[in-house]
Amino acid sequence: MIYDTIIIGDGPAGMTAAVFATRREMKTLVIGRELGGQMIWAGEIENYPGFKSIKNYDFIERLRDQMISCGAELKEDEVKKIEKIDEDTFKVVTNKEEFLTKTIIVTIGLSPRRLAVTGEIEFSGKGVSYCANCDGPFYKGKTVVVVGGGNAAFDAAEVLSKIAKQVYLLHRNKEFKAFDSLVSEVSRRENIKILSDVKLKEITGSNKVEKIIYNNINSDQDEEINVDGVFIEIGRIANTDLVIDFIDRDEKLQLVVNGRMETKTPGVFAAGDVTNASEFKQITVATGQATIAALAAYKYLQGKGSVKTVAIQH
Ligand SMILES: Cc1cc2nc3c(=O)[nH]c(=O)nc-3n(C[C@H](O)[C@H](O)[C@H](O)COP(=O)(O)OP(=O)(O)OC[C@H]3O[C@@H](n4cnc5c(N)ncnc54)[C@H](O)[C@@H]3O)c2cc1C
Repeated sequence: MIYDTIIIGDGPAGMTAAVFATRREMKTLVIGRELGGQMIWAGEIENYPGFKSIKNYDFIERLRDQMISCGAELKEDEVKKIEKIDEDTFKVVTNKEEFLTKTIIVTIGLSPRRLAVTGEIEFSGKGVSYCANCDGPFYKGKTVVVVGGGNAAFDAAEVLSKIAKQVYLLHRNKEFKAFDSLVSEVSRRENIKILSDVKLKEITGSNKVEKIIYNNINSDQDEEINVDGVFIEIGRIANTDLVIDFIDRDEKLQLVVNGRMETKTPGVFAAGDVTNASEFKQITVATGQATIAALAAYKYLQGKGSVKTVAIQH
């Protein structure tokens, strides 16, 4: 059995591509690690047309229902390898299975950037978090630290200040990249203390996070604070090694596509946050690109005479 397309990634781009591919009667498989992708971290979504405000999980459920009702198959798994079998066929290898497909649409999104300090990996999920909206409620009345100086860090500090007793915001520079209005808002909060010109060195504890050690860059002294949680908010990166043989990458390791979401390999398309197609990483942008990718994949197969022509224009 051979799929017309395999979509790698189950965020909004992947699910949208599945809707458009199946509506062209393409045999479609979506393989993804975590349904919803980054939307899981978003909490409330307030900028998707048609919804004044919608809870992330409600939106994810709607997208999932739509693609399944259109006929897409969904597998919760991780793609480990892609191979080219012949001119018209690729093999997609996951943790558990192997599949053959005529085209691939890569929508693997972005992942949180790691800080690479001692204790970060060890305490991940035991006090170290990359999502204030998801994990914030566990820190009611507690002391937490947010690491970063951009909008994500300031947003996280603002969210956490409504839950935690005390929030520290650690930034290695004096200047912040966050919007001035956000910096002003956070600076006004009584339970947020901003520590600039400091560098986090170590996260320690026994079974869970108990303390951080940071270096004060001006005095070159190490200092420490007892904390219950560490929120790392230093941006997101594209983990694109998986497709290195098939798709060029830019200096940010984003996947290089043209206006039809085609990559350098015929039959391989990419869409969403992982691509270089837009600097704006938003759901509407990702879903728009996914629409183009799916329709371009359909046209590609149509050109090869390997799908039937579907008489819908929309
Ligand atoms: C905290 C936060 C709040 C946000 N709020 C908003 C908002 O309110 N409005 C808005 O428009 N945008 C918001 N965004 C941005 C929005 O979530 C992204 O633009 C959007 O999710 C990108 O969609 P995507 O499908 O391209 O990638 P992603 O959502 O990143 O999905 C990619 C999926 O692919 C999976 N994957 C990766 N590698 C593999 C592999 N090898 N095998 C299988 N699966 C794989 C990942 O696990 C993930 O599930 C927010 C983002 C964050 C982090």
